[in-house]
Parts: sequence; structure tokens; C-alpha cells
Amino acid sequence: MGNDDFATVINCMDGRTQIPVNEWVRAEIGATHVDTITEAGPNGILANRQEPLASTIRDRVMISVNDHGSKTIALVGHYDCAGNPGPKTHQKGDVLKGLETIRSWGLPVRLIGLLVGDDWSVEVVADSGSAPNRAKTGTGAVA
Ligand SMILES: [Zn+2]
Repeated sequence: MGNDDFATVINCMDGRTQIPVNEWVRAEIGATHVDTITEAGPNGILANRQEPLASTIRDRVMISVNDHGSKTIALVGHYDCAGNPGPKTHQKGDVLKGLETIRSWGLPVRLIGLLVGDDWSVEVVADSGSAPNRAKTGTGAVA
């Protein structure tokens, strides 16, 4: 597994989202450990670059990427979010816009956007594919 041991999730503090997202990331990304950064409606915070929260999220992402070697960052939006209220179209829009903010940080990571629905299942709404520094090996697959 090596560098794939860690993945990073930027999730809502909402307890209903934790287990579904953690299980999805471990199963689909092949991560053993999921570093989890939580805020109330983090997709909205990053979409709007709301300070100081956006910077504190970035600080924690840097620890996960630089110290744990995470190669994947997933940003989550979800149904019935109290911190960032709005329908599915709003959640998806803020996940995509929030991913642009994360992309601007210039990290060599795979970026994934996730939505948790009203049945608490996880849906992929964006995926940049393998991290740049893994793609050059020609083995995009997770070991
Ligand atoms: Zn929420």
C-alpha cells in the first residue's frame, strides 16, 4: 500500500456523514487511514473561501499531505446540511467550487468530490484521477 495508506477527507461535522464517507474512502481509494477534517458545511466554506476557516482547513490538509503522505483529498457535501443549507444542486456546486479552491493550493494529489444523499449513500461528483506524481509510474491502479 505504501503511500496510499493515508487519504484526506474534508467532511461536515454532521455525525451522519462520518461512517459512510470513511467506509467509502477506505474501500474505493484503498486507504487504510482516513485523516478527517471537519467543519460545519466545509464545501460552502471552501467554495466561498470563507476566512479564517478556509485557512485552518488548508493548514490541516498540509499536515495530512506533508506529514502523512496523503495522495488523495476528498471534499464532501451532503443532504440536510445545517452548516451549508441547500438542495442537492447547491451542495454539488459548492463541492465543485470548493475543489477549485483546493486545486489552487497546488498539491500533487488526486481530488475527489463526494455527495452524501438522503439515504446516506456516497456519490462521486468529481474525480481528477491519479495524483500527478503517481500517474508517471504508469500504474494508476491502487495496489
Ligand atoms: Zn453538514
